[in-house]
Amino acid sequence: MRIDIITIFADYFAPLDLSLIGRARESGLLDIRVHDLRSWTHDRHRTVDDTPYGGGPGMVMKPEPWGEALDTVVGGDPDTVTPRLVLPTPSGAPFTQERAERLSGEPWLVFACGRYEGIDARFVADARERMAVEELSVGDYVLAGGESATLVMVEAISRLLPGVLGNADSAAQDSFAPGAMEHLLEGPVYTKPPVWRGREVPPILLSGNHGAVDRWRRDEALRTTARNRPELLDEIPPDQLDQRDREV
Ligand code: SAM
Repeated sequence: MRIDIITIFADYFAPLDLSLIGRARESGLLDIRVHDLRSWTHDRHRTVDDTPYGGGPGMVMKPEPWGEALDTVVGGDPDTVTPRLVLPTPSGAPFTQERAERLSGEPWLVFACGRYEGIDARFVADARERMAVEELSVGDYVLAGGESATLVMVEAISRLLPGVLGNADSAAQDSFAPGAMEHLLEGPVYTKPPVWRGREVPPILLSGNHGAVDRWRRDEALRTTARNRPELLDEIPPDQLDQRDREV
C-alpha cells in the first residue's frame, strides 16, 4: 500500500519509522511518503494561511498550496490508479475499525493534515471531482491539527495489512474485529508469572481446556463491554447471542 501525507509539520511523522510500521516500510509492504505543504508556496514567507472570509477568529488554510500539492502527489497520468483522499476533521464521519478494515484494502491513500480553522472548502470540492474523498474524525474532541489524527488512522490501517502483524490471528481477536468481536471489547489479558503480588491468574487460563478458555474470554468481553461501552451490546444481532451470553 502507498500512503502520502501532506502536512506543514513533516517531523510529526518520525514515529512511522518505528516498530511494526517501521518494519513494514523497510520490508516494502508499506510505502509512506511525507510531504511539506510549504514546498508548494511561492512567497518569501511560505504562507499557507489567511484570514477567514466572513470574519471571525483564527486563520484558514489557503487552497492554492493544497491544490498544487495534491496535483503533484497524485500526478497527471490518467492510466495510474487514483488515490483516495482522507481529510481528518472533527466534522467528519467517525473513524472506526470497520473503516480501517475497508481503507486497508485500498492501494493508495493520501492524508491532508489541516491546521488552524481547517482548509478552504474549495480544495475539497475540487478534489472530489477527481477522486474519492473521505472526511473522517478520530473522536468528538478538537485537536490542534490533523497530524495526530493521521498517525492514529495510518497505524490502525497499516496493522491490518497482510504481513504487518507477526501473528495475523491477533487482529482477528481484538476489540471490534469483524466476526464474533465486532460489537465487543476484549477482556483482561495475563502473562507469566502465575502469581504476582499475591494476585493469581484466573485458573481457567492455566487449565489447557481451550473450549473453557474461549467461553471465559467471551464472558469477560461481554462484562468489559457492559461496563465501559454498554451501548455496543445493543448492536449485537440477537441470533449471535446464546443463552450463556444473556446470563452474563
Ligand atoms: N474549526 C474546526 C472545527 O471546529 O471543526 C477545528 C479545526 S482544528 C483546530 C485543526 C485541524 O485539526 C482540523 O482541520 C483537522 O485536520 C484536525 N482535527 C482536529 N480535531 C480532529 C478530530 N477529532 N479528528 C480528526 N481531525 C481533527
